[in-house]
Amino acid sequence: MKNVYFMQASYAMGSNAYLPYTCGCLAAYAWKNPEIASFYRYSGCFFLRDPVGTVLDRMEDPKVVAFSCYAWNFEYHKALATAIKARWPECSTIFGGHQILRCSSEQMEACGAIDYLVHGAGEVPLEQLLLVLSKGGDVSSVPSVSYRLADGKLFRTLSPAPQCPAEDLPSPYLEGCFDTLFEQYSQLTFSATLETSRGCPHHCAFCDWGGESHRLRDMPMERILAEIEWFAKRKIEVVFCADSNFGISPRDEAIADAVISAKKKVGYPKKLIASYDKGNGDIPFRMNEKLQRAGLSAGATLAFQSVDPLTLENIGRKNLTFDQYRDIMLRYNEEGIPAYAEFIVGLPGETYDSFASGIDRVLGGGLCASIEAFPCEVLPNAPMSEPAYIEQHQLQLARLRRTQRHQSLPPAEDIPEYATIVVGTATMPREDWVRTLLFSDVVQAFHGCQLLTLVAIFLNFSRHVVFSDFYTGMIRFAQEHPQTLLGELLPRFSTRLSAFSQGDGEQILLCEPLFGDIMYPLGEALFLHCATQSGRFFSELPLFLQHYGLNAEMQAELIAYQHLMTALPDNIPEKGCFQYDWSAFFTGYYAGTPKALQIRPNSIVFRQPTVNCAWPDFAREFVWYGRKKGALIRKGYEVIYA
Ligand code: SF4
Repeated sequence: MKNVYFMQASYAMGSNAYLPYTCGCLAAYAWKNPEIASFYRYSGCFFLRDPVGTVLDRMEDPKVVAFSCYAWNFEYHKALATAIKARWPECSTIFGGHQILRCSSEQMEACGAIDYLVHGAGEVPLEQLLLVLSKGGDVSSVPSVSYRLADGKLFRTLSPAPQCPAEDLPSPYLEGCFDTLFEQYSQLTFSATLETSRGCPHHCAFCDWGGESHRLRDMPMERILAEIEWFAKRKIEVVFCADSNFGISPRDEAIADAVISAKKKVGYPKKLIASYDKGNGDIPFRMNEKLQRAGLSAGATLAFQSVDPLTLENIGRKNLTFDQYRDIMLRYNEEGIPAYAEFIVGLPGETYDSFASGIDRVLGGGLCASIEAFPCEVLPNAPMSEPAYIEQHQLQLARLRRTQRHQSLPPAEDIPEYATIVVGTATMPREDWVRTLLFSDVVQAFHGCQLLTLVAIFLNFSRHVVFSDFYTGMIRFAQEHPQTLLGELLPRFSTRLSAFSQGDGEQILLCEPLFGDIMYPLGEALFLHCATQSGRFFSELPLFLQHYGLNAEMQAELIAYQHLMTALPDNIPEKGCFQYDWSAFFTGYYAGTPKALQIRPNSIVFRQPTVNCAWPDFAREFVWYGRKKGALIRKGYEVIYA
């Protein structure tokens, strides 16, 4: 029997890692073929970015190594393939996955250690390649692959890879592809990918999903239900639903119900993360409502990406109308389900002003617990990577060292990966891109992480201060007051972003020993820095707020109330006494029935501390895992009126 290994490297997130789902799918499909099962041994799947030498030492005379390539592992995989070919020149290396260009063999030119490229869906080409390699057949009969001819020239077969019917795709979980990993990596907890359908009916220009398979293929329900049972049995804490639009089909509600019932019975899974359907609010709402009640929700994502009509047109994306979103967000609020809004910075057509006004619309009325904004990345097979598209929108691109949010700090010898990021467009010059990203990080740090949310809301309601003006004002304040905490921190972040926009390879995430060995995105890092000095931060706040015309007592109480209500690990008073009824004001505001602030002396008493852990645990549990579901705002207090 010849050994076949699979490789799908990713970074561990602390002590958690994802099971290598794609490789498992490919192996499960191939080993259904009796000829493959009798000739080859499925010898395992590597999924951590261990040093290249360590991985090689764990292999035994590989006949074939198949690599599932994404933007975050391509360079590492190439280095590994090079080392494999040096030690075992007869071993065949096959590269497939989202990172492989669909219509070009050029990635083989840059790396002589790649023997075969699979373009697009991998199941059938890999199966046929394995058969050809076992029997010495003709590779030109294999669909959608590139390889070298005898004279060294590259050749690409043009027949497209067939899209297998979903019922022909075996489950890697149920086929046992990962069974050995639980013993081998007993120090890790695993997250798993749940794929209930494949494909996407939409065509967003920044995404490489819509291009290839527009038709949705539903996995059989029996498979899905059996996988959910498997997750529960294997104590999988986090299930990531990989569907492009979970909730697009009425049956998805039954799938969420099955996850809830598994959790009720055995305690697992503990979280279900998904990208919900953008064209229909009702089913995702009902699913989120149930998941929230069962403690399985990680917050409801509202994937706007932009609310600017021109930008949405440029990227070929149709969202719900803003009014429809607003209704859904209000329903989420009423049910106490934290919703967070996702945006992309650097989309063509967007300007600083349109981005800021989009944030205003979403924050208006306190509709979202949190905002998440990502720089726009150009993925190899996305429509946005087409030269004509780049030219049309004058995209300015920077190739930057890639890091994953919340990954563990990589070792110094880690092989760098790269991302191509849009750092300027015809409508957003580079300086505006820096400004926009800094603005969005400030909103994430102070609004999304709740350090100033209540202050901003109150000023918005009582003084008509627009949210974006409030947060832009903070940035200006930091520039004008370098002696303050904000004045010390924000220029550091801004300098980092400027360097980033110029293609400086500096990583955009921050890792500080105080917060453990996890890399936090800038918005969260900014919050954490201010949180560790919350006494100073709040004592300097009056200087910033003085322009808003609150009377001194009201301002002091507002700051004290904000400080009291923000979940922080240290220096938290358990009780606050107020002349104004802040609690009633904010309760009414979040319920969508805001009323003017009343004078009504009261005490707010917390019976237990909200945070009872050290900074690294706080950063992980409350900021990384918890902020999207509103963990950074304290709950469970009593209001005692005088
Ligand atoms: S971003 Fe989502 S909706 Fe748009 S093409 Fe990609 S998967 Fe489909």
